[in-house]
Amino acid sequence: MAESAYDNLLDELEKLPGIGRRSAERIAFHLLRQPADSSVHLADALTRFRTNLKVCDICGHVTESDPCPICADPKRNTGTLLVVEQPSDVVAIEQAGAYKGRYHVLMGRLSPMEGLGAGDLNIAGLLERVQNRTGDNAITEIILGTNPTLEGDGTALYLAEALTSLGVKVTRLARGMPVGSSLQTVSKAVLSDAIQARV
Ligand SMILES: [Zn+2]
Repeated sequence: MAESAYDNLLDELEKLPGIGRRSAERIAFHLLRQPADSSVHLADALTRFRTNLKVCDICGHVTESDPCPICADPKRNTGTLLVVEQPSDVVAIEQAGAYKGRYHVLMGRLSPMEGLGAGDLNIAGLLERVQNRTGDNAITEIILGTNPTLEGDGTALYLAEALTSLGVKVTRLARGMPVGSSLQTVSKAVLSDAIQARV
C-alpha cells in the first residue's frame, strides 16, 4: 500500500539539510494550520526555483542564465577573482558595490566536523580556472573572501597554499570584519573597506 501523504511529506522534508523528524513534524503541522493556499504557494515556489535557477558553469553562482550576468559582463575585470563560500555572499558584495572583478563560489567551506572535504566544494573548478587562463586572459589576483570563522580561515589557508603553487597572487579580505561574522551580516561600508584594504 502507498505511503500516507503525511509520512510522504515527512520523508521528503527529512532529506533537507538540518531537518530531523521533529522539525519535519513541526513544519507539517504548521502547514496544516495555515490556509491550504499557503501550501500551494510553497509548492509553486519550489517548482519555480528548481525550473528557473541553475548553477553558473564558470563561477558556481546561482543564476537564471548560464553563464551568470556577472561572468557574461564584458565590463568586469577578468583578472581578479573573489572567492566566497555562498551565492548569498556574492549578493552582499554586489550590494556594497565596491568590487568590479569576478567571483568563484565554493558552495560551502572545509569542515572536518561535518565531514566536508576539498572534494565536496567547488575547489577543483577554481584551480582549473586559474590554470586554463594564460597570457592576456590570465587571472592575476585571487582574493579569498571566506568568512572570518575558524572553518572559513582554515579554508582560506588551504586555498592559499594550493593557489600560490600555481603562481597566482593571493590576498585575503582585510580584517576590518569582526571575527565570527559573515559577509552577509556586516555593513556595506565595512565590506567595501575589507575589499579595498585586502592584504
Ligand atoms: Zn558566473
